[in-house]
Amino acid sequence: MNYKKLFSEIAAELESLDDKGKVASYIPELGNVDPNKFGIHLTTVDNKNYSLGDSNEKFSIQSIAKVLSLALAFKLDDEKLWDRVGVEPSGTAFNSLVQLEYEKGIPRNPFINSGALVICDILVSRLENPKQDFIEFIRNISGNPNIDYCLKISESEKRTGFRNAALVNFMKAYGNIKNNVDIVLDFYFNLCSIEMSCKELAQAFLFLASNGVHPATHAEVVSVSKSKRINAIMQLCGFYDEAGEFSFKVGLPGKSGVGGGIIAIHPGKYSIAVWSPKLNKKGNSYKGMKVLEFLTSRTQSSIF
Ligand code: GLN
Repeated sequence: MNYKKLFSEIAAELESLDDKGKVASYIPELGNVDPNKFGIHLTTVDNKNYSLGDSNEKFSIQSIAKVLSLALAFKLDDEKLWDRVGVEPSGTAFNSLVQLEYEKGIPRNPFINSGALVICDILVSRLENPKQDFIEFIRNISGNPNIDYCLKISESEKRTGFRNAALVNFMKAYGNIKNNVDIVLDFYFNLCSIEMSCKELAQAFLFLASNGVHPATHAEVVSVSKSKRINAIMQLCGFYDEAGEFSFKVGLPGKSGVGGGIIAIHPGKYSIAVWSPKLNKKGNSYKGMKVLEFLTSRTQSSIF
């Protein structure tokens, strides 16, 4: 594929693309970002890199980090993980509480907030120094020691994260949270606060495009089977109640975050990260979705 040509077509397409939506402000610190930022970076499995715009600027990756926490918990807990969290699309918003009661505290999947909180609980149990060990895991898989949490963002969410506090307490009542709820929440808010650029994201996620092995270092991040399964969950659950729409229009496994980032994977070919902070009504980047739709339509290269 001629990615160079593709990126100049994307640049031209961006001129005419509207940018509806709103920057997330329910986490006050996220509201301070420049709404007009835009970055995109694609890394191929044979390490060719293509980018546009603010692709080297770090932003709050928010729920995109839930893929990496799942990868580590899956590696450590293996199949036992699925006793505590499902793999079905939720069809509800990322912070929804409704399903949890009639499903007795077992979240539908690891990417809605309730599921991600269970994954955090597992990591808090399994890691010796949870926050330090987790950030080291990300630094290792991306070969980048400069990746870190953002205290300003995690503190801001801690002050306003009442729905997440409700979710974790509710699951604790059902016995699906083993640790102290404040420790689990602290880990979760830090996880969501991680800052990375599009380039760093695309490179960190490359293992999911190459059967669980990082192509540059040849290090196995997760097994082949686990890599396939993580992609499957991204495909079905990565965009909450817009997962069908993303699958329909873009046709790649992916994951969004309320910071306006999206990561998408073309297994065997590339990983791509887009950042545009204005979100649609479902909490996914408006422009990010459009650009990825343009990219896979123009190249006729979805996974289907
Ligand atoms: N930290 C955010 C929250 O819990 C993550 C949500 C998201 O990115 N979709 O609300």
